[in-house]
Amino acid sequence: MNDTRGDESTISNGVCACAERHPLRRVVLTGGPGAGKTAVLELLTHLVCRHVVVTREAANILFSGGFPRSAGIPARRAAQRAIYHVQIELEALASQGNPALVICDRGVVDGWAYWPGPEPFWDAIGMSRAAAFERYDTVIHLRTPDGANGYGHQNPMRTETPAEARAIDERIAEAWDGHPRRFVVDPAADFVTKAARAIALVLAEIPACCRAASGSAAASELANQPAALAPATSTGQRAP
Ligand SMILES: [Zn+2]
Ligand SMILES: [Zn+2]
Repeated sequence: MNDTRGDESTISNGVCACAERHPLRRVVLTGGPGAGKTAVLELLTHLVCRHVVVTREAANILFSGGFPRSAGIPARRAAQRAIYHVQIELEALASQGNPALVICDRGVVDGWAYWPGPEPFWDAIGMSRAAAFERYDTVIHLRTPDGANGYGHQNPMRTETPAEARAIDERIAEAWDGHPRRFVVDPAADFVTKAARAIALVLAEIPACCRAASGSAAASELANQPAALAPATSTGQRAP
């Protein structure tokens, strides 16, 4: 894990003079292994105002902290239940203190993609799929690249082969299918292009009162022109 953000569970930075009361809004950034979520979130933390809070990935917190990670069914079930509880608490904590936007590194729904059964995931966590969807205003899915597009090797926490990573990415797409506001960012030949698309989508979710303090002038301009983002999205999108 190339994570230099310390052991805080949430991060936010950037000066901002906004004194508005913000309605709670959550955005999920999701994607299979190697999709580039971590890099995009790292870039975002340098672009947003102090009212935008980013939660760390629950699975990463648990596994990097030593939670058992083995292939057996009991261990996988235990891990997904633990991830669920950590996720709920991370989101509750991030929602304190009037944030303009909470950006989640994956959400409750992602657990479905990893759940081994036998009972339905939703029964196991005691939350309906509809209730899980309602927690998140917007979903941005960074698709995992295939081998040709460079499946990343920069994260030592990653244990999947490229084929497994793609399969998980498909499951994640299925998990979020039907969410009313979902954007899909396909792999690009260069990661900078993909990251710029994802960042523009996130910046567009920041309310106007805080948008001026978030992002460069160019990014703000892009965020104000959602129509220009259309080519960056594919299945499941809905106009902002
Ligand atoms: Zn602000
Ligand atoms: Zn604001």
